[in-house]
Amino acid sequence: MLKNLKSFDLKEKRVLIRVDFNVPVEDDKVLDDFRIESAIPTIQHCLKEGAKVILMSHFGRPQGQRDKKLSLMPAGEKLADLLEMPIKFSDDCISEDSHDVTLGLRAGEIHLLENLRFHIEETKNDQYFSMKLAKHGQIYINDAFGTAHRSHASNAGVTKHFNQKGMGFLVESELEYLSEAMKKPNKPLTLILGGAKIGTKIDLINRFIQKADNILIGGGMAFTFLKAKGKDIGGSLVDLSMLPVAKNILANARGNTKIFFPKDFICANSMNDSAKSSVELAGNIPNNLMGLDIGPASIEHFSNIINSSGTILWNGPMGVYEIEGFDLGTIGIAESIGVAKKNGCTAIIGGGDSAAAVKKFGLMNNFNHISTGGGASLSLLSGNPLPAIFSLEL
Ligand code: AMP
Repeated sequence: MLKNLKSFDLKEKRVLIRVDFNVPVEDDKVLDDFRIESAIPTIQHCLKEGAKVILMSHFGRPQGQRDKKLSLMPAGEKLADLLEMPIKFSDDCISEDSHDVTLGLRAGEIHLLENLRFHIEETKNDQYFSMKLAKHGQIYINDAFGTAHRSHASNAGVTKHFNQKGMGFLVESELEYLSEAMKKPNKPLTLILGGAKIGTKIDLINRFIQKADNILIGGGMAFTFLKAKGKDIGGSLVDLSMLPVAKNILANARGNTKIFFPKDFICANSMNDSAKSSVELAGNIPNNLMGLDIGPASIEHFSNIINSSGTILWNGPMGVYEIEGFDLGTIGIAESIGVAKKNGCTAIIGGGDSAAAVKKFGLMNNFNHISTGGGASLSLLSGNPLPAIFSLEL
């Protein structure tokens, strides 16, 4: 059984919360606070209920070394701004001093611990390190969906030391949308895939090839499939090692699931050449050009399918959305999803780049749910168990 936050009596209790504050930071300033904001409902609920809140997170990959550039201090400052209250900060997550600060907390106060990954023991799921982390709390809450597919000390090992443990609001809503909603989706179910890396999405395709009514494949990964179909893809991105897998998927898709590819692409000599782009038909891309976004006919075709869908699940941008001129496919699809949502369709977007794209274009309201976790959402949607969630079971 999984317990949710509201089922605990939090008054005067030290509540240790694993959050995901792994946010982009430049010159000590947080560039995108989406993940911090996503943890706020859980933190505020604990404060309102009179808990003493201890927050822990990883940030980047310091490989067990202290690195000033990977301090959680900027994330803490951002959180203090958002909550409009001071936050205590310890520069080591398991030092005696940090435990003293925790023990001195009063109800309604917050203590943020320094980056867990300054200790190599975190990613090794070390028992002794887990025990020292656990000393901070009387109740353990996991609200870090983004790392739930990993078995680390702060989300797996630590749970062995708690009788009282459960999930925060963010994890609860991620599970509700990505797991529960997918068990009985409103039909037709359309899966939209894009992005560069086909390898990370194979499990997802294999699961949905029996379940989805439509699979729309855009982005760079479309070219590996088009190549597998014998089409000319010019100089576009291709993963040759995945050609047999792509062929296999195409062969298996002869049942109820229809797979659609772009009809045209926005092409250029290179990513730096968006000013000199042209629209080329799929399967006919000249050798000196690469496809960097889906073209207008593809946007229209995909939009028609989106408009007649009951549930949409989207992972991966349609093109190199980071560069103006190669972003219209991603924007067009997000806009069509907004229209479908208004007509009652449930729209879910998962994965770091996809979430970053819709945020960049201010189209977050076009979705019922935007997942905070890249690997974790892919894993859950692919039907794989998440070790950190499993560890919370009582
Ligand atoms: P992924 O992590 O696999 O979802 O890939 C996301 C990345 O795919 C983004 O940084 C996009 O710029 C990139 N991408 C999307 N479409 C293309 C394309 N046609 N060619 C090269 N890269 C692409």
